[in-house]
Amino acid sequence: MTRVSFRKRDGLARTGTFEADGMPPVSLPAVAECQKIFPALATLAGTNLPLCAPKAIVSQFPPETGIQPVQIHPQLDNPAHSGDCVMVAGWHTATANPRTYVDWLIGLKEKTPVDTAWYAPASALPSTAAILCYSGFDLFDCTAVDLKSAQGRFCTPEGDFPKDALTSGICTCPGCAAGDLREHNRHALRQEIALVTRFIGQGEIRDLVESRCRLDAAQVAILRHLDRHFEFMEQVQPVARPGVLRANSGESMQRAEVRRFADRVIERYVPPKTDIAVLLPCSSKKPYSLSQSHRKYQQAVGGRAHELIVTSPLGLVPRELETVYPAGHYDVPVTGYWDAEECAVIAGILARYFQKHPYRRIIAHLEGGALKVARMAAEQCGIALEYTCTDHPSANTALNALDAALAGERRVKDDRLHGMISYQFNCDIDTKGTTLRGHFPEVFYSRSNVQLFSIDTGTGMLRPTLDGWKIIPDGYRVYIDDFIPEGDILIPGVVSADPAIRDGDEVLIVGLRALGTGRAALTADEMQRSRRGVAVRVRKIKRV
Ligand SMILES: [Zn+2]
Repeated sequence: MTRVSFRKRDGLARTGTFEADGMPPVSLPAVAECQKIFPALATLAGTNLPLCAPKAIVSQFPPETGIQPVQIHPQLDNPAHSGDCVMVAGWHTATANPRTYVDWLIGLKEKTPVDTAWYAPASALPSTAAILCYSGFDLFDCTAVDLKSAQGRFCTPEGDFPKDALTSGICTCPGCAAGDLREHNRHALRQEIALVTRFIGQGEIRDLVESRCRLDAAQVAILRHLDRHFEFMEQVQPVARPGVLRANSGESMQRAEVRRFADRVIERYVPPKTDIAVLLPCSSKKPYSLSQSHRKYQQAVGGRAHELIVTSPLGLVPRELETVYPAGHYDVPVTGYWDAEECAVIAGILARYFQKHPYRRIIAHLEGGALKVARMAAEQCGIALEYTCTDHPSANTALNALDAALAGERRVKDDRLHGMISYQFNCDIDTKGTTLRGHFPEVFYSRSNVQLFSIDTGTGMLRPTLDGWKIIPDGYRVYIDDFIPEGDILIPGVVSADPAIRDGDEVLIVGLRALGTGRAALTADEMQRSRRGVAVRVRKIKRV
């Protein structure tokens, strides 16, 4: 028997524990003595079949059944079950061709239960550990680094060097101190795995991989090919993370969370009932409202227009969504210069938005790259812009021009709640009669003194109470069996779940004997494809 449990998941990467009978538990990701954990490895046949071998050949060597690890291959039906450790032999050869690496990975991930540990034998080096964990592998051995030692190569996360680097001062580990290359290389691998584990724990593995891949063209290509499979990558990304989203590279714009935000702003979000919009620049302080410049813009607008912030890499952030992940969480290098690809992607987002939501007047209170993007978008969808910036957007002349441009326009009702509900729960509901208390961004929404929603100040997401759920007509429901939950909802208790649910989404738990609120720990699809573990972290349960 083997058991797998995950503590923290970050896209395909995860931390957790793998247990095999008679062995101490292994914390994942790990470099382990896999020959000891899996005695069968010594005699396992068929492990030298290349990943690219055609089905006709692979099917002549079916993997042995009933042993761990379970061999999986791109051309074979999935033989693994929940709790197994699966092994992809020869994975180190996959990196040579990034496109097939990604095709094989997605094919294998889609046919294998989520709650399995993934072993890549003879693959991990200090320079590949991050991308391997990002790809969803969590168990490794020392074979690849030992081979490097035999070849006289000194390994670091940035690549490897001739062995005289051992005395160069690059590293001061016990292996280097003893002049022992093999010990240094093993130490460097364990150290990198420890660092990767830390980044996964913080929900920042993507940021580490964007940094680590720079010295290896194949790794950059793998990252880009994975991003191109948006539907697959979007499914596995949590709806919110606790930390900062560092948009410091060209790849950041293609991150699934970034694209998902833009798509939801266009497809789900419902703007307030007004026909006048003001396009504003972003601020490095988040949420924007807390910055000096945005206080000035808001004062000049005076509630007489719908405020839309033009920003890279997210595209367009309606004022109501400024606290929501990742709008309230991204950090981007500010140079004032926007490159051609950035301009094209963001202009495309603006054009799609204005095609879906026409306004009578659109005022561009912008300069530099953001202004260029707004002009490109206006041309694409055949709309006319008005301009109020002859100076810096927060200079008095510009602010006065903005104020004057809005003279005579009526005030728009500020309805942050309506915008946030439409974005998060994909519905257009009447928020009439709701009142707000608290201090922005930590606010609570009530109606007739009954609290409906609070805001999670970490993620900026709405947290409905059971009364709040009454006004959200459908979606984001997890249906459970006929029982009264004590503690979190475990996977076997789930009957069905709305396919839109992602890791971290607020959900309503619906059972014959109980109703509850909580946060999904898995996507709906994973709840169906796993056997063990937590499906929903419960906040409140009520008997019905
Ligand atoms: Zn060392």
